[in-house]
Amino acid sequence: MRSLLSRGSRAGVTVVVAGVAVGLFGVSAGAAPSAPSAPAGGGAVRDVVLAVHGGAGSLPRGSITPAQEAAYRSGLERALRAGQSVLARGRSSLDAVEAAVRVLEDDPHFNAGKGAVFNTDAEHELDASIMDGADLRAGAVAGVHNTKNPISLARMVMEKSPHVMMAGQGADAFALRNGVPYTTQDYFFTQRRWDSLLDAKNPDAVPAEGGSTVGAVAVDRERDVAAATSTGGLTNKLVGRVGDSPVIGAGTYADNRTVAISCTGTGEVFIRGVAAHDISALMEYTRAPVERAAARVVNEKIPALGATGGVIALDPRGNLATPHSTAGLINGYVTRDGRIVTRLYNDETPTG
Ligand code: ASP
Repeated sequence: MRSLLSRGSRAGVTVVVAGVAVGLFGVSAGAAPSAPSAPAGGGAVRDVVLAVHGGAGSLPRGSITPAQEAAYRSGLERALRAGQSVLARGRSSLDAVEAAVRVLEDDPHFNAGKGAVFNTDAEHELDASIMDGADLRAGAVAGVHNTKNPISLARMVMEKSPHVMMAGQGADAFALRNGVPYTTQDYFFTQRRWDSLLDAKNPDAVPAEGGSTVGAVAVDRERDVAAATSTGGLTNKLVGRVGDSPVIGAGTYADNRTVAISCTGTGEVFIRGVAAHDISALMEYTRAPVERAAARVVNEKIPALGATGGVIALDPRGNLATPHSTAGLINGYVTRDGRIVTRLYNDETPTG
């Protein structure tokens, strides 16, 4: 199976690129959009200190080999352990989400860092953002080409520049000046993503690959929350396209008064719906618990705008919600007592 995750768009949103109609989010023009079934992932898991995701989509049992399953679970587990050991040493949730996302960026199975998808010009353009719920500081990078770990660059923008977001060449140059490892584009190459690009450019193609964006949310001993998201975006995206992942309030948000959130899904719609901040605002203004606020945005408001996706949302008390309007959401979490759980298949995420 070539594409790990396929994502349906309710509205069957399509974009025409160089004369080729390509389904933006896993559905080619003319293909029947797979409407999401019952809202999923609506219940909350208690006593969580760290959670990660590896993208929203559909991953039915039997659709990947046991070896692929083991690789995905081990990638999630390594990310969770990296973040967990940071927290266990008494360090901040910000350090933990950065550590967890770096592991997923280095893992070729996920669409972030090594393994990122290709744009229309067969390049990789990477987006990432990070936010500290303690003081609402945030950093983001968009369209970077040569930075091995965009999440660390996003953090550097937050801590070493007066800005929140940097893009393109300037961001890569900023990385170089600050000692963030530089890498050539071929480092990001994987055969699977290359094949997906060729598929997406074929006018007769069925599902272009979507999903596998990564993210993390955590809460530390001080009850400070943090969130981070990193992605290569969408296969065959136009050069210069930026999705929700680096947009604070859309793909990432963290506020100690409410919640830390990382989103995955149809970036354009998550931007228009200001999804991550909307969940936080619902919690702040209506005192809704995290599972209700997150489910409302993911299962009602985002689909009403014509797209699908999912989020991981963790409140400062350790309640984790993972709603998704796609059939599945690859994710995992660590509890306060050190239990690690990974969830790959559609039937592993609770329905709510
Ligand atoms: N949200 C990401 C973007 O639009 C894609 C994804 O989550 O799969 O760039």
